[in-house]
Amino acid sequence: MKVAVVGCTHAGTAAVTNIARRYPEASITVYERNDNVSFLSCGIALYVGGVVKDPQGLFYSSPEALEEMGVKMKMKHEVLQIDSKNNCIRIKNLDTAEVFDDDYDKLVMATGSWPIVPPIEGIQLHNILLSKNYTQANTIIEKAKDAKRVTVIGAGYIGVELVEAFRKYGKEVTLIDGEDRILSKYLDPEFTNIIEEDFRERGIKLALDETVTRFEGEETVSKVVTTKGEYETDLVILSVGFRPNTDLLKGQVDMMANGAIIVDEYMRTSQPTIFAAGDSCAIRYNPTGENAYIPLATNAVRMGTLVGQNIMEPTTRYMGTQGTSGLHLFDYSMASTGLTEKATLRVGKNVKTITIKENNRPEFMPDYEVITLKVVYEEESRKILGAQVISKADVTQSINTLSVCIQNSMTIDELGYIDFFFQPHFNKPWNFLNQAGLQAAL
Ligand SMILES: Cc1cc2nc3c(=O)[nH]c(=O)nc-3n(C[C@H](O)[C@H](O)[C@H](O)COP(=O)(O)OP(=O)(O)OC[C@H]3O[C@@H](n4cnc5c(N)ncnc54)[C@H](O)[C@@H]3O)c2cc1C
Repeated sequence: MKVAVVGCTHAGTAAVTNIARRYPEASITVYERNDNVSFLSCGIALYVGGVVKDPQGLFYSSPEALEEMGVKMKMKHEVLQIDSKNNCIRIKNLDTAEVFDDDYDKLVMATGSWPIVPPIEGIQLHNILLSKNYTQANTIIEKAKDAKRVTVIGAGYIGVELVEAFRKYGKEVTLIDGEDRILSKYLDPEFTNIIEEDFRERGIKLALDETVTRFEGEETVSKVVTTKGEYETDLVILSVGFRPNTDLLKGQVDMMANGAIIVDEYMRTSQPTIFAAGDSCAIRYNPTGENAYIPLATNAVRMGTLVGQNIMEPTTRYMGTQGTSGLHLFDYSMASTGLTEKATLRVGKNVKTITIKENNRPEFMPDYEVITLKVVYEEESRKILGAQVISKADVTQSINTLSVCIQNSMTIDELGYIDFFFQPHFNKPWNFLNQAGLQAAL
């Protein structure tokens, strides 16, 4: 079996290692346009903020390690074309500019995503940067050294993490977003209000409900102009979302409107010889049962691993996702899974919610922190559809528990009586998750 893998960050690395382990006789070739594999972008903000000192720790594999498994690693090679009718690809060696063709029995599309760059006037100015790969992480660190004022555009999880990193680094930080609140995809307003207030108290300027109309500057950006104001700046980081990197397969496999490849539960595309995984794909979103675009490393490694399991014959199904994610911003830890209450309006679900405030430990302990937990459930079936938690204590693992509840279609009433342990160091006799279930029944 001759396997070609296009792209080798998380989905690609997971697919390659699993195919190589299961099928040592397979001839596997990786084409990757970067000079590295497996870079953890989630460490960029920690690297920028100085928490991570050695960036080599942000890689968990290497071309050499994959070569030792018998994989042919074609680094700095870009795939230019895929001809799925003839099982053939065209590749460019980025060092020599040589262009050549190769064929395959099975192709793994792991080309991931790329940050959206809106066509805003002045976008070509220097010091307007993206934050996705290792090279960009190093550029941000280099440019940040001389920057006094930093503007982050996009208040998703990448934007807010960078805001924290720059503020801790002593920069004057402005965060701009077209929505009227931060993290609007992940958390409901009662949660985002807490973080926004904390950001403001820490001197971070929030420019919300404002759209960027142009960048100004001679060669280097010096001002960001929005629908409501103007912000002097030395550095801009653009983090307004991602789009799947799938032009190579346009018109050849089924895709969502945004270009995300549709795969079945065995990671097969509509073209029998092509598998796909990671940010290049749509994924089944369990709270709605529909395909959605949720680019996360967690999904990428699971899907890549499943390509390895299923490449010869359908063996292991993907169970879908709740889009579970967590964040740590200054003193707060927060996490969410499934639908927020706001998101249920968009997908037309009738829901109820329960919000509880509870201390994480018994009050006889020397210290304890308030937890705010919200659970969203369907009104008729009472099935849990989503949950959010925030606290100065780290109780984010509770959201993984609720992710399992959603995955298994559990109801809010069942949540009241699930068996959880009690020990005063960690929690109370009634776990706060039980409390949410019990109070929803009142
Ligand atoms: C700043 C940041 C922070 C993040 N934090 C988190 C987090 O905390 N938790 C989480 O779960 N997720 C996080 N993510 C998301 C996570 O990084 C992505 O979901 C993950 O990288 C997807 O992996 P992938 O392998 O599918 O795609 P990608 O990482 O996009 O990799 C695709 C690879 O394909 C290569 N490629 C593309 N086209 C070609 C071509 N034509 N020829 C050859 N090679 C090609 C690219 O060079 C790249 O190496 C974060 C992302 C960013 C940017």
